[in-house]
Amino acid sequence: MVAFAFREIPEFRQERFVVRHRREHRFPGHRLYYLPSCGEAAYKYAYHVHGETDTAKHWELAVCAQSTGPAIRIASANLLLTGSRLTSYRYVRNGDSTVCGHVEEWPRVLLNGVLNFALEMQVKTVLVPTSRHARRHAGMLREPGPIVDYDDYVVSPYTAERKDAWWVVDVKQNRELIITGERRESTTQGKVISISHDIERGLGHRGIDSRFADHADAVSKEHLLEMLRIEKAAGVTATYNVVAKMLPEVRDEIEAGGHCLGFHSYDHEVRKPKARRQTWPASTHRLLGGVTKRFVWRGPRSQLARCREIDSRPKGYRPPRSVITRELNDRSLCYHDFKWLATSKRSLGRTTPVLDNRIVKIPIMLDDFSLYSRGVHYQEWEKRALDFIAAKDIAVVSLHDCYADYWISRYAEFLDKIRAFGRLRTLDEIADGVILGNAP
Ligand SMILES: [Zn+2]
Repeated sequence: MVAFAFREIPEFRQERFVVRHRREHRFPGHRLYYLPSCGEAAYKYAYHVHGETDTAKHWELAVCAQSTGPAIRIASANLLLTGSRLTSYRYVRNGDSTVCGHVEEWPRVLLNGVLNFALEMQVKTVLVPTSRHARRHAGMLREPGPIVDYDDYVVSPYTAERKDAWWVVDVKQNRELIITGERRESTTQGKVISISHDIERGLGHRGIDSRFADHADAVSKEHLLEMLRIEKAAGVTATYNVVAKMLPEVRDEIEAGGHCLGFHSYDHEVRKPKARRQTWPASTHRLLGGVTKRFVWRGPRSQLARCREIDSRPKGYRPPRSVITRELNDRSLCYHDFKWLATSKRSLGRTTPVLDNRIVKIPIMLDDFSLYSRGVHYQEWEKRALDFIAAKDIAVVSLHDCYADYWISRYAEFLDKIRAFGRLRTLDEIADGVILGNAP
């Protein structure tokens, strides 16, 4: 059972907000989620504009419609909490939610949410960008639509002082204007299972087993189409971690199936870490994962940077051979806008997902490598997979395009068997669940 905390904001009329617009707004009740995560483009912006390198100072505020089913996100804002000061920016409306469709002035709902967060975190001042500042950084922040007219929303009805590029809102002075919410919790139960695919053709075997690499290059495209077809027939969505340089070739087919996309490096080359071991124990990994490391790896040879040149959207990264190289520290991952890292349970040193320095670390319980490398029989492998799934609340199984010869003929049957245990979720959904579960 996992508990998710949120704030319930009752329906409210903004009779006090009519000064400028000369009309009253009625806002439906909604929920606020205080998410311990870096919002979109947040780390890069904080790093370059504010000189901030600490991942733990990042939060994301999500405003969701009240609903009995899964929460529907209406809007979100990025937050940077530094001592008694809260910087809020990139106010974004998410999708065309019909639930809040009639609320033209959704940024007011969001700003009220930001002030709720500030109150609870005992913040003294909230910074809101001036419209000019927001426009200036729109490119770096990847603003998805028209930029919010911050000047309008802050000045009326709040008392705010303009200081350089920011509006400074004194929380105490504006306390009476904040519509506050009640903290509530909801829970979810049940097992979560995820199928993750590494799409790499022969790249994982070049220079190691050339015959197999040639074979994989020849058959993997067909394998990919076949696994997509089987998943479509079963109504299953999976996660496809694709080697970035192959992504333009396969993206359309994968996205057509509604699957989640992640990166499996840029070119599958593994530059070994300078440490003596390829896989590090959890303690070392944590140490290098942003706690002590003072730099963000942004070099031109960075696999992460080159992935982002291909596509800015995927939220996840799956390292080749589960080797945690030097560039895969948490700050670099945040800088390049990743939310999760999925790697073998051995390299992670744990068997359950965890939120670490704003990155969700997802252990892969089992993959299909042993079918190829040790000649394990399919039936034996399947039994191991089902045993793992039976034993864990969250179980991720990884299957490669290059090894599909060993399992594709049994795949439909395998999906049927694992679906009997619980819900199939993508790694994006698992990461979102872990972040939500860590909301205060
Ligand atoms: Zn691989």
